[in-house]
Amino acid sequence: MKFNKCLFFAGMLILSPLAVAQYDTSWDNSRGINQISPNVYRYGAGGSISGLFIPTSEGIILVDGPASPCEPGAGQWLKDELDERFGVPVRYVVLSHDHQSHICGTDAFKDTAVAIGHKKIRPHMLREGRLGAIPTVTFEDSMDIDLGGIKVSLHYFGPSHSDNLIATHIPQDGVLFIPDLSRPEGQLPNPDFRDMEVDSAIEVLGELGKMYEVDIVVPSHGSPVATQAYFHRYREYLIALRERVLDHMIEDMSLYEILEVVTMEDFSDYTNLEQNLERNVTTMYDYLYRYREPNNPGGLPIRAPQ
Ligand SMILES: [Zn+2]
Repeated sequence: MKFNKCLFFAGMLILSPLAVAQYDTSWDNSRGINQISPNVYRYGAGGSISGLFIPTSEGIILVDGPASPCEPGAGQWLKDELDERFGVPVRYVVLSHDHQSHICGTDAFKDTAVAIGHKKIRPHMLREGRLGAIPTVTFEDSMDIDLGGIKVSLHYFGPSHSDNLIATHIPQDGVLFIPDLSRPEGQLPNPDFRDMEVDSAIEVLGELGKMYEVDIVVPSHGSPVATQAYFHRYREYLIALRERVLDHMIEDMSLYEILEVVTMEDFSDYTNLEQNLERNVTTMYDYLYRYREPNNPGGLPIRAPQ
């Protein structure tokens, strides 16, 4: 079902912060389930990656898989938990994107559920031999799932982290789930920009920051939940890093010289900046290498460390 974008962006904030505050939105990485809003639960099967599920009277909508790294039995663990707590089957499995660590274990629900993902997800899953439920229902821009009186909206804003990452939005609860473009506050989400379309990701982050009916953003990695301010800050970081690396490339500096001078000190509030910076600069350089033609390509410095 096509989603009306005008209505979507014209909506007003409905859920009050107080409604969210009564739920425990912090968790550790142990195997467990937390209710984070009236209709939405977060689960983790051990490891840093989380998924969501939305139980309704007519069945459950599951978003992403319970195993990270892929671990036999994690899918069955979640299935048993859901059976015991809710007594209704998982009817839909939504895959946020094709990356193995986020979807492993979803095949445990194939007997009762329809798998859904962006239309570009299938070739990646088939090529890489992903362990997960291959979507049989795909969409291009947006899609709504209506089940048991709950609406779950899926949105694709363009290539970003992968060419098939989607945002899962539960408007009535003000919950937005967007793996790998968000992390807990103060952490950069991506150690490098592999499988990332940087320019489009900057646009996507802008769209995510403008969405209405979002009180809490659930990152797939770690805890606690983030807010939309996260998207604005990370967008600023990507824009600044891109500009700085590009400026120095135009000055004919080598990657090694650029690594010396691009320190991103004005973003030192990111606690993992030091850990990620070299890979961020190197893969931004790689991205921009494919973006421009220098005046003197014969003198081009090497593209990446050997
Ligand atoms: Zn990913």
